[in-house]
Amino acid sequence: MNARGLPVHAALQLLATHDDVLQFGGLPLNRLAQRVGRTPFYAYDRAQITARVASLRSALPAGVHLHYAMKANPMPAVVQLLAALVDGIDVASGGELATALDTTMVPACISFAGPGKSKDELARAVAAGVLINVESRAELEKLALASDRLGLAARVAVRVNPDFALRRAGMRMGGGAQPFGVDAALVPALLARIAQLQLDFHGFHLFSGSQNLSALALAEAQAASIELALQLAHDAPSALRVLNIGGGFGVPYFPGDMPLDLAPLAENLQRQLDRLARAAPGARLNIELGRYLVAEAGIYVCTVIERKMSHGQVFLVTDGGLHHHLAASGNFGQMIRKNYPVAIGNRLHGGMREVVSVVGPLCTPLDLLAEQMEMARADEGDLVVVFQSGAYGLSASPTAFLGHPLPAEVLV
Ligand SMILES: *Cc1c(COP(=O)(O)O)cnc(C)c1O
Repeated sequence: MNARGLPVHAALQLLATHDDVLQFGGLPLNRLAQRVGRTPFYAYDRAQITARVASLRSALPAGVHLHYAMKANPMPAVVQLLAALVDGIDVASGGELATALDTTMVPACISFAGPGKSKDELARAVAAGVLINVESRAELEKLALASDRLGLAARVAVRVNPDFALRRAGMRMGGGAQPFGVDAALVPALLARIAQLQLDFHGFHLFSGSQNLSALALAEAQAASIELALQLAHDAPSALRVLNIGGGFGVPYFPGDMPLDLAPLAENLQRQLDRLARAAPGARLNIELGRYLVAEAGIYVCTVIERKMSHGQVFLVTDGGLHHHLAASGNFGQMIRKNYPVAIGNRLHGGMREVVSVVGPLCTPLDLLAEQMEMARADEGDLVVVFQSGAYGLSASPTAFLGHPLPAEVLV
């Protein structure tokens, strides 16, 4: 769903169809479902991901390095595809590290963030030669021990918990008390400790929040991140080589949500690059994006098992639900439940339309994929499609809940 300049739900009207069947990855949806062999499944469109990276790169200044934050979608085929398109991969666990190391991305361009890294994860990261974003003083000491044991100077950056928050973020991950990063006030002491240890200091990582659709709020946070990093760099043991200012670029999900306007972000990033070139020549500016690169290129598809009436309302009971797609059910960080864009994929516009709720097979009222939404009239066997499902889908869902089978996942 890449239609520009329209609220996301209205963009459903513009989707490519043939005989009213959704086309995805160059295939009619029924054919894709036959190819997969079963529902439910997630499908990700290779061409859409590739086009997304290309359009982002052409919008942003060339000096900005683009990293993929793979927790958004860790499917190995997707990560491999992106490895060939972006400048780096950001991982947040030993498991993700292993996936990233299996791709063609060079280890020097992989970075590892996240609180609570274990000794084992740290040792593996040092041995791999990736950049480790340390999140605390205790973690720094463990990293130094791993470094000593392996006889390798770990490549290290300090993740800073800034004193500001990203305004209008869907999820705040910086500012005030946080489990993420080192409070800005404690960073000078940490840098002094790094200078005493046999570690290879590279720079700073700041990440203030996620899922933001306000270019102005993002630009403000970027400028404030650079300001803070340049200030902290005065106490650094060596010149700044890498500055990762996070991402937070949002994706429209809910009725009325508009796509992010990249133009003001690009202008601001050019100003920040100029500033960095003067104050810290040679420092590389990274942004790390997860959902922005993959969310719109993915769909979740399930089959209607039963069409059921209750007190005059229609319920489409499907074989898919929150156990596969927690975010679409409204239970992954949303304050108020709102509908994702959902449609009947094998009859997109439909001759007859009606207002329905789409539910899953789990015995809980939380298992809701669409609440009182208008779509084509559907029956048993029809395919329900949840759009904007390429990020925080399967890997962010409680798949063991109620013991149903796992969905399939394909990259087309
Ligand atoms: C989750 C995360 C991201 C990705 O956030 P998106 O909203 O998917 O872009 C980037 N950086 C860090 C440190 C993260 O924890």
